[in-house]
Amino acid sequence: MMTAFAALLTACQQRSGEKTTNANDTFEWKVDQFADIKILRYQIPEFEQLTTKQKIFLYYLSEAALSGRDIIWDQNCKYNLLIRNYLENIYRTYKGDRQSDDFQQFLVYLKRVWFSNGIHHHYSTDKIMPGFSREYFKKLIEGSDSAKFPQWPSLTAQQTLELVEKVMFDPNFLSKRVNLDPSTDLVASSANNFYEGVTQHEAEAFYNRMKDPKDPTPISYGLNSKLVKKNGKVTEQVWKSGGMYGKAIDQIIYWLEKAIPYAENEAQQNVIRLLIKFYQTGDLKVWDEYNIAWVEDTHSLIDFVNGFIEVYGDPLGLKASWEALVNFKNLEATRRTEILSANAQWFEDHSPIDNRFKKQNVKGVSAKVINAVQLGGELYPSTAIGINLPNADWIRKDHGSKSVTLENITYAYDQVSMRSGLYEEFIENKDDIQLIKQYKSLSDNLHTDLHECLGHGSGQLLPGVASDALKNYQSTLEEARADLFALYYMMDEKMVELGILPTLEAAKAEYLYQILNGLMVQLCRIEPGKNLEEAHMRNRQLIARWCYEKGKPDNVIEMYQKNGKTYVRINDYMKLRELFGQLLAEVQRIKSEGDYAAGKNLVETYGVIVDQKLRDEVAARYQKLNLAPYSGFINPRLVPVEKDGQIVDVQVVYPKDYIQQMLEYSEKYSFLPLEN
Ligand code: ZN
Repeated sequence: MMTAFAALLTACQQRSGEKTTNANDTFEWKVDQFADIKILRYQIPEFEQLTTKQKIFLYYLSEAALSGRDIIWDQNCKYNLLIRNYLENIYRTYKGDRQSDDFQQFLVYLKRVWFSNGIHHHYSTDKIMPGFSREYFKKLIEGSDSAKFPQWPSLTAQQTLELVEKVMFDPNFLSKRVNLDPSTDLVASSANNFYEGVTQHEAEAFYNRMKDPKDPTPISYGLNSKLVKKNGKVTEQVWKSGGMYGKAIDQIIYWLEKAIPYAENEAQQNVIRLLIKFYQTGDLKVWDEYNIAWVEDTHSLIDFVNGFIEVYGDPLGLKASWEALVNFKNLEATRRTEILSANAQWFEDHSPIDNRFKKQNVKGVSAKVINAVQLGGELYPSTAIGINLPNADWIRKDHGSKSVTLENITYAYDQVSMRSGLYEEFIENKDDIQLIKQYKSLSDNLHTDLHECLGHGSGQLLPGVASDALKNYQSTLEEARADLFALYYMMDEKMVELGILPTLEAAKAEYLYQILNGLMVQLCRIEPGKNLEEAHMRNRQLIARWCYEKGKPDNVIEMYQKNGKTYVRINDYMKLRELFGQLLAEVQRIKSEGDYAAGKNLVETYGVIVDQKLRDEVAARYQKLNLAPYSGFINPRLVPVEKDGQIVDVQVVYPKDYIQQMLEYSEKYSFLPLEN
């Protein structure tokens, strides 16, 4: 499963990255924007500290991650590779006016198709309609190198062109990639390439026949194949070496084999060997063996995902899209979480909650934080920020799962939001803006660490209290408890003492940001007339509103108007910290005693109701900033340095040109025929 990035609003993110360094001020994070998309870059911090062996390992895994690119294109729709080839030939060879509005519209369409790995919007899965006419498309064809246009295997050149036009311009043909409308045949009405000639009923019957409800360790039926009806017979075309997508899979195997000698330990070598065996055989039992070995390898610094993983692209939830991610543990973040975990008992003992609710023996959890090195397949260019695998329920139950946060990716998001004008719009005081810009990334990280490593694990239920006593308010109150624990300790001298916060000023940035977001900014995601439903959003407003109301006698938090705009400022940070402590004590009491009525009252009073007038104002101000709601990334390039035919080092280059990277990938990693 993955945590998709909360796409609407950069300021609603939960996590960000490393310390701000001078180099970051000149690094261009956002390099392109078109339609509803912005193109960003991410850095790989700490890469230089790795050994040569580790760098080479990352390089080979990265090549394996890029080699499957064509697979996701073909999975998304069977004509995607044809369309990509057509459009790229126009881009490369068109001799007409390349400055005209029409050509710019062509460019936007091409960029969108690249971004979505095909002709359907990556998020809505609706077909992307070109912003230029069929007539103009004919002009583009005539002005381009005709010899280089690809031809569909069973069609003439003219018929191929007609097919391309139908795929691009007919709104009713292949109109949605994944159709989830239960009133239709989900298989027949979805434009993905997971089924051909079969109805939903036939597909379901095919797999139901295979399943044994008593099997405690079932394989993931249908995960790695296309289901096809030929001459009245339904069969699977398996994605494996020598089978469907075999040419790309062979390339993946080639790079994985190269990687084996550079793996960190024998367990990891075994993981790679099992993955290769799976790609060679297509055997889903081997896939499970691989996943078990992979999830049990928790000691390696470097890790990767490579395979048919998520099933969101199939309305029946059986067929998995190909994806890849190469990464390594973020040492700095790991150090922070280790220090916090080692001091878990101190935090528990000093918590502002009633002694009856404190744990005698508390254990911190080490959150796993990683740096992405390369994104591939379904994770490129648009990526998740959190991943939790494997997906098979029985493996998760018997062997556990790995959960990671991609810290350098969220850091990039954070850098972009800092430059988006968002803070200038919503904060009036220049010093406050500066405070956020200087410290928010750092304090955000610490907030997440405290929340994950200590917050959720602190406190205890009184004997006899059921863990689900708070029912539908459970998740909001639990998130509030972890957040308040983090906020309370954030401004504690202990943070500076432990060496994880340079100064308490940094904590102020987090306080200001949390209050601003909870009172105002997050409202821009809410539809007019609606109230808050999502647990994290309710929790943020609950905390901010409660502190605002309770702090009124001392004017702790001030909301005021200037030039028709509402602003927020914090007048007394230490008082605010006390309020966080008081609310933490109350939320802990509610949890420990299972006081449903009080929990309900707290959430309903402060966390649910939206001030609609304020919402309208916030939404209007946000809209003016022209922030594209979706983001994706250009990959860094790993460049091997060779000496006497041996790789002696690997260097990282950060390309800036989105078009360039797409063309380069098409050139280097086009391993599949047009029709598979
Ligand atoms: Zn949480």
